[in-house]
Formats: sequence, structure tokens, C-alpha cells
Amino acid sequence: MLGNMPSYTRPISSRLPQVGTTIFSVMSALAQQHGAINLSQGFPDFDAPAELLSLLDQATRAGHNQYAPMAGMPVLREAIAHKVQALYGASYDVDAEITVTAGATQAIFTAVAALVHPGDEVIVFAPVYDSYGPSVALQGGKVVYATLADPDYRPDWAQVDALITPRTRMIIINSPHNPTGSVWTAEDMAQLEALVKDTDIVIVSDEVYEHMVFDGARFESVMRYPGLAERSLVVSSFGKTYHITGWKVAYCLAPRELMAEFRKAHQFIVFTVHAPSQVALAQFMGKPGWYEQLKALYQGKRDIFRQALSGSRFELLPCQGTYFQCVKYGAISDEGDRAFVERLTREHGVAAIPVSSFYPGGDDHGVIRFCFAKSAATLEQALERLVKL
Ligand code: PMP
Ligand code: GLN
Repeated sequence: MLGNMPSYTRPISSRLPQVGTTIFSVMSALAQQHGAINLSQGFPDFDAPAELLSLLDQATRAGHNQYAPMAGMPVLREAIAHKVQALYGASYDVDAEITVTAGATQAIFTAVAALVHPGDEVIVFAPVYDSYGPSVALQGGKVVYATLADPDYRPDWAQVDALITPRTRMIIINSPHNPTGSVWTAEDMAQLEALVKDTDIVIVSDEVYEHMVFDGARFESVMRYPGLAERSLVVSSFGKTYHITGWKVAYCLAPRELMAEFRKAHQFIVFTVHAPSQVALAQFMGKPGWYEQLKALYQGKRDIFRQALSGSRFELLPCQGTYFQCVKYGAISDEGDRAFVERLTREHGVAAIPVSSFYPGGDDHGVIRFCFAKSAATLEQALERLVKL
């Protein structure tokens, strides 16, 4: 370290006093440090389609290198409108109701920043994706936790009903669910629709795993339910769908009144998103059959993963969607989940995520999450190590 590096010596009143570095960064770093197979942070270890990479190259050479319009490149917004119409029968206006964002994380943060006032309550479901709570806290909102209880992590609608108060401003939902792989049913959507009817509650629906729903089940987007769609900001991410988590391109859909508020914040949080990626994605999205192939790809990997572990001492929890498989390890160790994944990484060369990181109080149910978005060779190597435990 250079002797003249500046250091700040005044007190700092943190806006996020409970928050450290995200567990995904921590575990990926630990995996790298120990040369372990990284089944922790959620990203594929295989590349994006070559054609998409060529389209990105072409887009930069065709001069798409200056600011895109604030709401996103019109070609991409048109492609998104076309997609959701075809898949969910949903009509969103290309100019007024679709905004391209720098990842789903930014879309969710922006939705909260635009709509949550200090003191407003926001209901989330624990185990909960790590960015939701801090996004709410930074706006001075109060996070209220509903529970998804293992082993199947279903929502308890009577509990949600009891948590709704006149201060409830927003409910953030996520199906297919990270980390548990649970998927909400039509009945769940109907329950939610009934609960919010006649309220001013808005919904943020995190649908980033929309194309990873297995065993022939239908994905129940909020867009299919008029009583939900009318009050929802729907978020999806190209990172998951095209194996490009590093591009950080996603989108948000909402009725124009909500989208107008979203954009007021969006224009000052990020203003606009990487332009050539948007052009490339718009062209690639026209490819028929991609979503079915993606689903088959991940269902196949899930099956390989589950089959291999079914003979092991890990207890498999259900996995109806996403590219995550949760397991209990109580037959192997009585360590806490954080200690267990750290030792698994160091001593057995496989990194995973402790599910306690998804609970506000760090509740430890002895469950860890593996990401199976990996090549056949990586999975084979990791599974060989895991079955020995
Ligand atoms: N929501 C969920 C449930 C996720 O799992 C992720 C990423 N793994 C995100 C949001 C963030 O997506 P992005 O990388 O597009 O910001
Ligand atoms: N969402 C990814 C996961 O669940 C990680 C994204 C991140 O590192 N923030 O693993």
C-alpha cells in the first residue's frame, strides 16, 4: 500500500448498517482462492450463442455507440412487446410502458425508489433475494417479511393477508424463486389477486427465471392476471435467458401511469443502457424456439444433478424451476450452513451458497444452494466430489 493513500477518519452514519459484501461475491471469491468448482453464484460457465456475440460486434461496427434513448432502443422495446404478447397475451405500449434497464437489480431498485416513500411498508417473502431489502431500506421504507417454509416453500396467503396494513405500499414477488426453485401456481396468483383487490398496493414481479419452469408446468406471469397486471411492474433479465449475466441488460414493463413514475427515477439512476447490446438482443430475440430449448437445457441439467445426488447423503429439496438446487446436509454435518459451505469449498473443492443469507435474521435451516447452470463436464466433476461426502 502506498504511504500517501487517503483514508477517511470521520464517523460515517451508514445508510445500510447491517449490510456487508453480498454472499455471491464472497463465495465466488472463496471458490477462486481455493480453485474450487464454483456452484455458488448464479451464472453459466458456458458461453452465449456465437451468433449473439457476432450481432454485438456488428452493432458496435454499425455505429450504435452513443446514448440510447432513455427508455431503451426502440427495436428492443418492440421485440419485448412482441415477446410478451406471444407468450402471455399481454399488450404493453412500446413507447410508454416498456423500459430497458441495466439488469434486473437496477429495475427493482428503480421501481422501489420511484414508488416507496419513507415509512411505507413493503412485503417480501423470505428466503428473499438479497437486493430487495436494501433497496427498500435505502428509500426509508420498512421491509415486512412473509415466510416461505421448507421443504416446499409455498406462500401462506393467510399470513400475507395478516401482514397487509394501510401502510403497505408494495409487494415484491419472485417466481420461479431464487434460491428455492419453487414456482407459484395459478391458485397462488388468484390468491394474491384477491388480496390486493381494492387496495393501492403495487406489485414488483421479479420474473427473471420465467423461461426455467420444469415438468410441463405453465409459468404464471402476473401479466396473465388482469387484477395483478394493472398494478404490477414486471421485471425480467436477458442475463438469465441468453447466458449473458455480464451484459447487465434487463427490462421493466408496467402500465403507463406506473411506468411514468419509474422513468422519472430511471433517468437519474442510470439514464440509459449500453446501446449495442440492445440492438444485438433485439435481432437475436427473433430466433424461434429459444425459450423451449433453454427450458429443456436446464431441465436436463436439473435431472442430471438430482439423479446423481439421489444416492448421496444430501437430501434434495424440490426444484420446479430456476437453475438452482437446494439441499439439506444434516446427514453429513451439523455445522452451520455458512461454515459448511466454506469447508465444502476449501476441503472438497465445490462452492455453494448458504441459504441463511436469504433470511433477514440469518435463520439457518441447514440448507445450501447449488447452481447447476454449468457445462456437463463441470457438473460431472462437481457431482463426483459431492456424492463421496
Ligand atoms: N432477481 C433474481 C431473483 C435473481 O436471481 C437475479 C440474479 N441472479 C437478479 C434479480 C438480478 O439480475 P440482473 O443480473 O439482471 O441484475
Ligand atoms: N443472482 C445471482 C445469484 O443468485 C447472483 C447475482 C449477484 O452476484 N448479485 O446467485
